[in-house]
Formats: sequence, C-alpha cells, structure tokens
Amino acid sequence: MERILVTGGAGFLGSHLCERLLAQGHDVLCVDNFFTGTKANIAHLTMQPGFEFIRHDVTFPLYVEVDKIYNLACPASPIHYQFDPVQTTKASIHGAINMLGLAKRVRAKILQASTSEIYGDPEIHPQKESYWGRVNPIGVRSCYDEGKRCAETLFFDYWRQHRLHIKVVRIFNTYGPRMHPNDGRVVSNFIIQALRGEEITVYGDGTQTRSFCYVDDLIEAVLRTMTTPDEFTGPINIGNPVEFTMLELAELVLKLTRSNSKLVFKPLPSDDPRQRQPDISLAKEVLGWSPITELEQGLERTIRYFKDRTDVI
Ligand code: NAD
Ligand code: UDP
Ligand code: UDP
Repeated sequence: MERILVTGGAGFLGSHLCERLLAQGHDVLCVDNFFTGTKANIAHLTMQPGFEFIRHDVTFPLYVEVDKIYNLACPASPIHYQFDPVQTTKASIHGAINMLGLAKRVRAKILQASTSEIYGDPEIHPQKESYWGRVNPIGVRSCYDEGKRCAETLFFDYWRQHRLHIKVVRIFNTYGPRMHPNDGRVVSNFIIQALRGEEITVYGDGTQTRSFCYVDDLIEAVLRTMTTPDEFTGPINIGNPVEFTMLELAELVLKLTRSNSKLVFKPLPSDDPRQRQPDISLAKEVLGWSPITELEQGLERTIRYFKDRTDVI
C-alpha cells in the first residue's frame, strides 16, 4: 500500500485514475480546485477509507507526505484552457514547479500528464517521441501547448539536476464516461448533439483526423508507466493509433445513437491540427501495452453515460 497524490483527481482522467489506484489498495490523496472537475466525478469514491480529498490550487505550494505523484491538474480542452489563458500557463508551470518541489522534498516518484499538443501541427506523421514539434508560441492554443512543453522541460531539469524519478506521458485524444459535457471536445459534442436531436457541428470540412483512446486503456498505460524502472523517464506516447476523420466519427455517433440529427459545417478553429496520430511503438515495447477498446465499443459506453446525465440531455 502506497500513499499516492493525484492532482486534478476530480477531473475526467483523474477520477478514473483515483478509482483504479483505490482498487489496487492504495491510499489516494486527490487534490483539485474544481475548475473543470466536479464533486460528482468523485462522489462514489468518498466513502472509501483509502480516499481523501483536498480542495487546492496547484499554483500554490502544497505540503503533504506521499510516495508517488500523478500530476494531472490543468484545464485540458480548448474552451476551458482559453477561458483564462494566463491561469492555464500558471497551472502547468507553477503547478509543475510545486509538485516537483514536493517530490524532491519527500523523494516521491512523479508522473506528468503531458499531451500530444506539444507536437503542435506536426510535419511528421505519425508522431514519435523524438519529434520536437511545430508549435505556435503566440497563438490562442499556446498557453496550453507551451505551458505543457515548459512543464516537460522542468521535469527533465529536476531529473538531471536533482536525480528525481520522473515519468512523462504524452496523452493523445482520450474519451469516455465523465468527460465534461461543455468542454467542446468533439466526442462529447457529437454525442450530446445526437442525443438531443440537435445539429452535429463539424468544424471545417470534417476531413481532419484524430485518433481516440478509450479512458480505461489510457489509465492502464499511465499505471504501467509509473511501474517502469527508475531509469525510464519517457516521454512516452499513449493513445490509440487508429485514425478517423471527424466525418467518420459523426456518422458512427449517429448510427449508435440512432439519431436523425443533420450535419452542419462550421469554421475550423485557429491552429486546429490537420491530423494527429500517435506512434506507440515505445509504449508497446516498454509497457507491453496497446489499446484494446474499439471506437464503437468505447462510444457505446460513453453514450450510455451521457444518456443517464438527465442534467445534460
Ligand atoms: P479535466 O479538465 O477533466 O481535468 C483536469 C482537472 O484539473 C480538473 O479536475 C480541474 O478542476 C483540475 N485543475 C485545473 N487547474 C487546477 C489547479 N490550478 N489546481 C488544481 N486542480 C486544477 O481534463 P482531463 O481530460 O481529465 O485531463 C487531465 C490531464 O490530462 C490534463 O493535464 C490534460 O492536459 C491531460 N491530457 C488530457 C487529454 C484528454 O484527451 N483528455 C489529452 C492530453 C492530455
Ligand atoms: N514546494 C511545495 N511542497 C513541498 C516542497 C516544495 O509546494 O513539499 C514548492 C515550493 O514552494 C517551491 C517549489 O515547490 O516554490 C519548488 O521547490 P524546490 O525545492 O525545487 O525549489 P526552491 O524551494 O529552492 O525554490
Ligand atoms: N470538432 C468538430 N466539432 C466539434 C468539436 C470539435 O468538428 O463540435 C473538431 C475540431 O475542430 C478538431 C477535432 O474535432 O479538428 C478534435 O477536437 P477536440 O477539441 O476534441 O480535440 P483537439 O483539437 O484538442 O484534438
């Protein structure tokens, strides 16, 4: 049994991670400021004796005693991270500094939830960890992209300078139950629009691609990364390499929800990457992992979750 800190633990990915760690018998300290996370996401965990919650903003120092840290606290969807861009950069950078300082003091192993966004609008496809990326430093996505890039820098400098045991995972688009209904991400948007019988908003011509990983697969890879030998730092790509266009996704959502909603085409947001697909050779080799949930299967579970959200549908 270990004492494990999960920052951003009341969010989409964080709540699934807390759940899995508790199921493994660990003591879980969930830290969140509820910017995008909710009490509802962790309500089912609060009765478990191993679970503890602190409402706290990671841009401020935190003094606790733990063995491991998963640093997930950061608004993650464009709508949320562009709402207060300065705060987004602070969450990434000040948050990383504080959690690394904490890890250094208690000699905890620390994992950073980085993102495929650090590759920007990539010139190489699929993206390997060795690719440095093509990121606009002054655009509307930069608060998130550059914040996450600098957080990676900090992790590697604490590793080089203080010999901290770090792990950096680069997460690609992930979906599943407990996604935020208003975060504007494509999977939640399309499902909610289809269930409500509203128009399905396709941005651009819908030929841009993404590869979607189901949350259970993602969490499995994150947990496995933490158990790798100390000399393994990452960065390591985690995601599902099967690529779909947004038009294909829309058609699949319409089929699974049996919805009559019509597609409507809207302007493409600025800096929207044309395509994105992880090269997961490293994850296969080091973690012995690859995703097992088909998009259709994962969408069905996510659709069921949103159907039960009577506050949303
Ligand atoms: P989310 O918005 O559901 O979760 C983020 C959580 O962090 C929320 O609970 C939020 O309240 C909390 N938070 C934000 N700022 C905070 C602060 N200053 N102090 C304390 N808590 C704070 O998003 P998610 O999809 O669960 O993402 C979790 C992590 O994974 C993020 O770091 C994100 O960048 C990364 N990630 C997610 C995806 C994805 O597809 N979901 C892809 C790449 C990377
Ligand atoms: N910090 C923290 N919790 C701790 C230890 C440190 O939040 O248990 C914060 C501390 O406020 C500091 C940051 O982490 O600003 C970086 O700590 P570090 O020791 O690396 O740097 P220094 O204190 O020398 O600036
Ligand atoms: N998208 C869309 N309709 C929506 C929301 C998003 O067509 O209602 C598109 C968006 O332009 C992007 C893709 O879907 O090309 C994925 O968007 P999301 O915000 O989910 O993830 P990200 O852009 O961060 O990969």
